[in-house]
Amino acid sequence: MQIEIATLFPEMCEAVLSESIIGRARAKGAITVNCHQIRAYTKNKHNRVDDAPFGGGMGLVMQAQPIYDCWLDVRSQSELPMHTIYMSPKGTVLTQQRVRELAELPRIFLLCGHYEGVDQRVIDKIADEEISVGDYVLTGGELPALILTDAIARMCEDVLPAPEAFQEESHYNGLLEYPQYTRPEIWEGEAVPPVLLSGHHKNIAQWRAEQSMEITRKRRPDLWAKWSKDDGADALLAQSTNCLVEN
Ligand code: SAM
Repeated sequence: MQIEIATLFPEMCEAVLSESIIGRARAKGAITVNCHQIRAYTKNKHNRVDDAPFGGGMGLVMQAQPIYDCWLDVRSQSELPMHTIYMSPKGTVLTQQRVRELAELPRIFLLCGHYEGVDQRVIDKIADEEISVGDYVLTGGELPALILTDAIARMCEDVLPAPEAFQEESHYNGLLEYPQYTRPEIWEGEAVPPVLLSGHHKNIAQWRAEQSMEITRKRRPDLWAKWSKDDGADALLAQSTNCLVEN
């Protein structure tokens, strides 16, 4: 997986992407992430990347030319086909399912807007889709691009220790994860659920599956309704718990 991030703040992205699991994955070559400075592609002497909106209104709009030239240059640097995403509050809200699909692609270009946004003409010209990280507005597309990069990267081979590391987590199979506990066995008078100390793998798997369903049902009725309608739900549960489910 190769991710290209086009931004006015590459240092901000690098700072996050050099740390922890993603930083190590990049260092060992499990994923490639390149940050590109859009300002480097301006053709005016003041390196301006934005201007006032036609029709009036507040703020500044990012101009089409530097973004388009950046995109053309990045695209020419590899023969891998490039899927282009504009990070935008007007886009489709990101889900784990979309992350799974994107993680299958060889190369992704993420465009980070700033200020009032980006000239629509360049979005129309280069973007295959627009993705939002939620129904709220941020100052720039950098945090959304970092969220998407992180979510995609952890699904790529050799980034996490094993696929189970993400397959058992919230949202992968449409449910929220069961509660997790670690040492000590008693903390502030609160004990860990005894089944987790039993060493009985089948009972532990069953407890976790039940907790997962209960938490999803209570906290996210929308996800629960979808999951319980899903034909694969029974099979999934039977597989993880080796027991029959009442639905
Ligand atoms: N004027 C735009 C609007 O009302 O839709 C908002 C522009 S926002 C202040 C600046 C940039 O931040 C956007 O171009 C986009 O790249 C990014 N951004 C803000 N909120 C976002 C979100 N929820 N998801 C993805 N990107 C977002």
